[in-house]
Amino acid sequence: MTEIYNFCAGPAMLPKPVMQRAQSEFLNWNNTGCSVMELSHRGSEFMQLASDAEADLRELLNIPDNYKVLFCHGGGRGQFSAVPLNLLGAGKTADYVVTGSWSKSAVSEAEKFGNIRVINAVIEDDGKKTVLPSEHWRINKDAAFVHYCPNETVDGIEIFEIPETGDVPLVADMSSTILSRPLDVSKFGLIYAGAQKNIGPSGLTIVIVRDDLIGQQQMTTPVILDYKVTSDNGSMFNTPPTYAWYLASLVFQWLKDLGGLDMMAKLNQDKAQCLYNYIDSSEFYYNTIAANNRSSMNIPFFLKDDSLNAEFLTEAKANGLLALKGHRIVGGMRASIYNAMPLEGVQALVSFMQQFEKKVG
Ligand code: PMP
Repeated sequence: MTEIYNFCAGPAMLPKPVMQRAQSEFLNWNNTGCSVMELSHRGSEFMQLASDAEADLRELLNIPDNYKVLFCHGGGRGQFSAVPLNLLGAGKTADYVVTGSWSKSAVSEAEKFGNIRVINAVIEDDGKKTVLPSEHWRINKDAAFVHYCPNETVDGIEIFEIPETGDVPLVADMSSTILSRPLDVSKFGLIYAGAQKNIGPSGLTIVIVRDDLIGQQQMTTPVILDYKVTSDNGSMFNTPPTYAWYLASLVFQWLKDLGGLDMMAKLNQDKAQCLYNYIDSSEFYYNTIAANNRSSMNIPFFLKDDSLNAEFLTEAKANGLLALKGHRIVGGMRASIYNAMPLEGVQALVSFMQQFEKKVG
């Protein structure tokens, strides 16, 4: 059978060894005689799993002790609400840097809860989109926080520098880049990420928040979005998504066994380079993002003759290369190559692209 490679932007493919392990212990986890999803989240077995998962994540990202890790519901969009509901005090303003579709959506939600100042940071240079260096963002020194999205999943734009925001807490939507490379967490006030790309299945959201930012929630903040309630209750104020938490724990172990984030960064770089190099060398395909802001996780590309798009997608699927259709806002194609995508998957894509180009080009 042809090897299947799934390029979906999320929910995305998970590492095969993780899925195989989950399968093997599906009906009897840890000799309990039950599936992990059937156990009480407050029982000692699950509590141990939960704290081991947090310890592994802390180790992988080298999270300082003055940060809490919260395991939440609600996805990235849940955090679009939770961030202002917890960090934007009455009468305060927050700065939101817009670099693409997801940071724009974050603004629309935050505007319901307070004053938001928008900083548009993408410019077009020679037909390519590029992000203004952060020293040109002109951040308001009195802002309650600065929000940005280091990797725009839809647009394929990544910001590799960590913006310098002085005393203003930096908040990052890392849904599609977390765990793809090492990170200096101490530069951030808060980081959040929906799980369904590099962490596990959908249904779980990770929040990493500096202690001093907890406890500033608005009076009307719903309890399940309240960082203080979540933190005080070990992320178990309400029933957490236990099976997603379990799968995340297996993904963290898989990452550690592979050698951690330095190793993953190298692999991700090799994968992205393999695809970008081919796109750049071709007269048939192109990408519209400037080299220094090209995402290493989500790679949009276009056929110069877009009347061939449907044929490209049908043939790609027949060759075991799934979910390459670009987001409807951007069009064309998009290859999402998160941690679980092996280099062989990207090589298979490039070789298919070459064949397709030869056949119809
Ligand atoms: N932010 C980013 C960067 C995303 O990629 C996504 C989902 N693709 C979201 C937010 C929204 O996440 P969710 O669907 O989990 O609410």
